[in-house]
Amino acid sequence: MIENTFGMNIIPENDAERLVALRRYRIMDTPSEASFDNIASLCTKIFNVPISLVSLVDAERVFFKANVGMGKAKEANRGKSLCALAVLDHEITLFKDAFEEPCLMANPNVVGDFGLRFYAGAPLITHDDFLIGTLCIIDQKPREFSEQEKVILAGMAKSVMDQIELRISALEEIENHQSTNSLLLEQQEELQVMNEELTASNEEQIQARKAVEEINQRLQIALDASKLGSTEVDLATGSMQSTDQFKANYGYSKEETFTYADLFNAMLPEYRDRVKGLVQESIAKNEIYRAEYPVKWRDGSIHWISAHGRPRYDEDGKANRMVGMTADITESKLFEQRKDDFLSIASHELKTPITTLRASLQLLHRIKDKPSSPIHLKLIEQSNRSMEKMSVLVDDLLNMNRLTQGQLELSKTTFNIFEMLSLCCNHVRLEGKYELIVEGDTDLIIHADEHRIEQVVINFVNNAVKYAPDSKEIHLSIENLGHYAKVSVKDKGPGIESDILPNLFDRYYRVNYNSQNYTGLGLGLYICSEIIKRHGGKIGAESELGVGSVFWFTIPI
Ligand code: ADP
Repeated sequence: MIENTFGMNIIPENDAERLVALRRYRIMDTPSEASFDNIASLCTKIFNVPISLVSLVDAERVFFKANVGMGKAKEANRGKSLCALAVLDHEITLFKDAFEEPCLMANPNVVGDFGLRFYAGAPLITHDDFLIGTLCIIDQKPREFSEQEKVILAGMAKSVMDQIELRISALEEIENHQSTNSLLLEQQEELQVMNEELTASNEEQIQARKAVEEINQRLQIALDASKLGSTEVDLATGSMQSTDQFKANYGYSKEETFTYADLFNAMLPEYRDRVKGLVQESIAKNEIYRAEYPVKWRDGSIHWISAHGRPRYDEDGKANRMVGMTADITESKLFEQRKDDFLSIASHELKTPITTLRASLQLLHRIKDKPSSPIHLKLIEQSNRSMEKMSVLVDDLLNMNRLTQGQLELSKTTFNIFEMLSLCCNHVRLEGKYELIVEGDTDLIIHADEHRIEQVVINFVNNAVKYAPDSKEIHLSIENLGHYAKVSVKDKGPGIESDILPNLFDRYYRVNYNSQNYTGLGLGLYICSEIIKRHGGKIGAESELGVGSVFWFTIPI
């Protein structure tokens, strides 16, 4: 509460705003500071007075921010402090002799023990023109105060005010710092959240990537196992991103560049337009295309390719890429081809003896009433030969059928192999054209399906007769190899080229002799090899051109 001692209004009109202006400096009740103390101290020296104060006039009190010469006093009542008067005027408030001033007659500082007589207070004026306090000098005796001194005091008050204003910019800076800090903090928190989200999405991405990698690995294993090659064609440039297997299918190494143009160049010319047409059609219909075509490798060899692909489109719906896969199907193509050949050969092979048989029977029918003559016998013999041929062919077909269906059952017995070899192939012995020489271990006993083993030997001997007709001697030998018995059939015929030897035991495989026309289905040796394999043995052939061939098999003893 203000104890107004001045007998006049000491509250300016704008006091409320003034107080707001004062409080923004947040200087009230703060500890003393050297910068303010120094100015006050300097004042006492310059003006030669005992007291100098930096005072700030609050609503009801005056706070001394600096106090030189007035003991420990921190504040005074606004109604008693002369500073309350100094904030009423922009000019210096000057009481040269307090006793002379009527407004100070009731002031305890003047009339009391303190004995104030002189007061000069320069107002502290804010940048926005509020008078918030004073820099004052006080003396206990009256004195003069020149204009010069007023200027100095006002100047020093300005320095005080500058110090106070500095606080506000410092405060602002601190606030700014704080707000920047809190902004930074907020941003940091946001970053933290984003980081966490990112880590989470990173986790998801890592998981997704792992899953994709795994699928890719599996796909690669599947591609490797199936010898499938894959590629992606850039339709604009014709460049291709191909797997090693894809290039290998066209006879290119993995280091070599292989383009879309190279692919069509490798394709046999007569297939190019058709395949291009299929690709165009698949682009137009957004469908998978499938094609099979032969390619010529740079070494001249021909390979069959099975290809399928699918177009990919850009955002404008224009086909820009083609994703494709290929497999080398040469093996199965050859097999298919051999099978086709086999069917035409089989029908031809059967047709020949059937035609002969029919002709013989027709003739026999025509002469049935005539007395018996040499022609009857000849026709019967011819019919028998035709029947024999047909039964061999039908046997082969049946055996092969059984083999493919896994129905070839073995009925094993124990027998002497030398004896078996000596008795088999009587049809050849009886013909008298060839000499079958059986040699080797005469006592070797094996446990096997005698009928099937005999079938293998007959096949070897029949082939020797068929493909080595000039070899009058055919050697059948038996060797005891300890755990195995080895049986070989050797002729002195034209021999077989070494590179085709391993294929002889394949199904439908026949050597193409352009000059000679040998009958056969290319099944005999295949059936033999199956029989031997079922016995747990091995089968093979050795041959030298112009010297002869040896066909052999082994059977566990
Ligand atoms: P095929 O029914 O054609 O005789 P095989 O499977 O018995 O079928 O024989 C396969 C091929 O092996 C024959 O086409 C023939 O070219 C060749 N071959 C078999 N035995 C001999 C041999 N002793 N001398 C020369 N070539 C042979």
